[in-house]
Amino acid sequence: MRKIPYGRQNIDQNDIDAVLSTLKSDNLTQGPKVREFESKFAEYVGANYAVAVNNATSGLHLSVLALNLSKGDRVITTPITFAATANCIRYVGAEVWFADIDPNTYLLDISSVKELIESKPEGFFKGIIPVDFAGLPVNMEDFRALADANDLWIIEDACHAPGGYFIDTKEDKNFCGNGNYADVGVFSFHPVKHIACGEGGMLTTNSKELYDKLMLLRTHGITKENMEENHGGWYYEMIELGFNYRLTDFQSALGIVQLAKNEKGVERRNEISLAYKKAFKGKIKFQDLPVGRYNAHHLFVIEVENRKELYDFLHSKGILAQIHYVPVHTLPYYKNIGYADANLVYAEKYYSRCISLPMYPTLSKEEQNFVIEQVKEFVNG
Ligand SMILES: *Cc1c(COP(=O)(O)O)cnc(C)c1O
Repeated sequence: MRKIPYGRQNIDQNDIDAVLSTLKSDNLTQGPKVREFESKFAEYVGANYAVAVNNATSGLHLSVLALNLSKGDRVITTPITFAATANCIRYVGAEVWFADIDPNTYLLDISSVKELIESKPEGFFKGIIPVDFAGLPVNMEDFRALADANDLWIIEDACHAPGGYFIDTKEDKNFCGNGNYADVGVFSFHPVKHIACGEGGMLTTNSKELYDKLMLLRTHGITKENMEENHGGWYYEMIELGFNYRLTDFQSALGIVQLAKNEKGVERRNEISLAYKKAFKGKIKFQDLPVGRYNAHHLFVIEVENRKELYDFLHSKGILAQIHYVPVHTLPYYKNIGYADANLVYAEKYYSRCISLPMYPTLSKEEQNFVIEQVKEFVNG
């Protein structure tokens, strides 16, 4: 039986050629392709700076470090995301505070965040990490206003959303991760995401200061610029405790070709989304699309009553639907550190009903029709 996954990479001969030619060049890592990928990615999303990293989890870690998050600080995020979004807060010993999601967009609900902030003394929180969940852009202009009023930074977890955008009150298109409203944007190049590098990630920002810190921390905290001493051409200084979170040159070469295909890929994802919506409208609940937003559609999520039965039914037909996500506060690690009685009603209700259907550019019409037929057969009994 042919299997239809929920997401998959799109690798063609151009991708393969790009990697092979870099493998034959002088630099397997830290060559010209890293810089080229960074500048093309920054241009694509409309940010001033981009920093390539070995995966988005490392990128999240560097982001909280660059924003000076430290032990005992508190950060607000969504429970409906991949664990890494919250884990980066724990890496530095800070506290994760979950606010609830909006039951229709599945995004972090700004009124829930506001309530949480207002229930605590001034200065209690340091930052917010909203997620462009499933590819639906967060209205970052609204979050910026809330953040500014409370002296908070924003990291935009845009791992699901390269190519997605929202229109702000100035009628400007804001691509996810463009840095106009969030301090740092984070992207992943894991193969189930839009752009596949095997592993990989990108950070975007409009702040020169943050950019310099991210670059320094990505490479061990080592620099050859503005040195206190200089013993000669070989000399360098380590001025911070940094990491090796670099992306290789051959992965960057792959990323460049993948990035060039992204706009078409997102268009195709939106075609697939339209076909699902046409088939399910009025019968099955799916993620809302607020006006003025363009969903990059990493995922297509529906909600059903008998979710586990639908999951098993689809898998028995070779359709590898998936669940995104087990709410982060219910994972044993988080339960054990005190989140067991978190009261996140919409997140938990969503989790009991959600299932992600196949969504990727090379999903054929026939395959999608088969998926739609099977879902309808199940729902209609
Ligand atoms: C995939 C993902 C990550 C982590 O990405 P990696 O590149 O695998 O480290 C973080 N946040 C979200 C929302 C993701 O989907």
